[in-house]
Amino acid sequence: MSKYIILLGAPGAGKGTQATMLTEVLGVPHVASGDLFRSALQKKTPLGLEAKKYMDQGLLVPDEVTIAMVRERLALPDCQEGVILDGFPRTLEQAKALDAALAEEGRAIDKVLYIKVPTEELVARLSGRWICRDCQAVYHTITNPPKQAGRCDACGGELYQRSDDTPETVRRRLEVYFEQTMPLIEYYTERGVLTEVNGNQSIAEVQAALLEALKD
Ligand code: ADP
Ligand code: AMP
Repeated sequence: MSKYIILLGAPGAGKGTQATMLTEVLGVPHVASGDLFRSALQKKTPLGLEAKKYMDQGLLVPDEVTIAMVRERLALPDCQEGVILDGFPRTLEQAKALDAALAEEGRAIDKVLYIKVPTEELVARLSGRWICRDCQAVYHTITNPPKQAGRCDACGGELYQRSDDTPETVRRRLEVYFEQTMPLIEYYTERGVLTEVNGNQSIAEVQAALLEALKD
């Protein structure tokens, strides 16, 4: 089965939710650029404080900063057999930098799974999203509620809503996605590695479709 995998899709498409499952099945780590930025911010590192300026506005952190951060993460020993990338790449420049970085090691992206979801559904998903502060598990008030309100089923951690999941910032993030990230669909289609999966079905159905796509 393919091991260097990108989950591509708009904010709220279900990338994080599905990555949690895929990481167990494939035995490779889940690397989410947004999580890396949020963790840096929590620790108040210079990288985190720089990223915050953009994240608060729903804008992309500059390519140079983002590429350096992800390259550093990919160089760690746990990524040597593969990785599930979530939220990266988000621009053509990032995609090209990733290809170049993998090529240096004689590796390449095996599969890009594009999770497609209609815009109205994305807005509904992001407005009801809750995340665990400790293990980053993802919930939704309606479609995927925790057993106990405000507590993570997996680890008992506290659940919170992201400060950029507000209607205005979500609108901006979606605009940014359409402008800067959608071109990647063509980029990876041309390279013959992209498979589109219908993300507008239950979490279990999306999961089954992704696993099927990985068998190709
Ligand atoms: P992304 O990582 O792509 O931004 P998430 O995985 O965080 O998206 O999912 C966004 C929200 O939608 C979360 O609240 C999650 O529980 C919910 N969600 C994810 N997949 C589905 C699905 N197939 N159907 C309904 N809700 C979903
Ligand atoms: P996410 O958790 O993927 O929704 O990302 C949250 C925010 O982090 C985004 O709105 C961006 O500000 C920033 N971010 C995450 N990944 C990237 C990326 N690949 N390129 C630029 N900015 C990113």
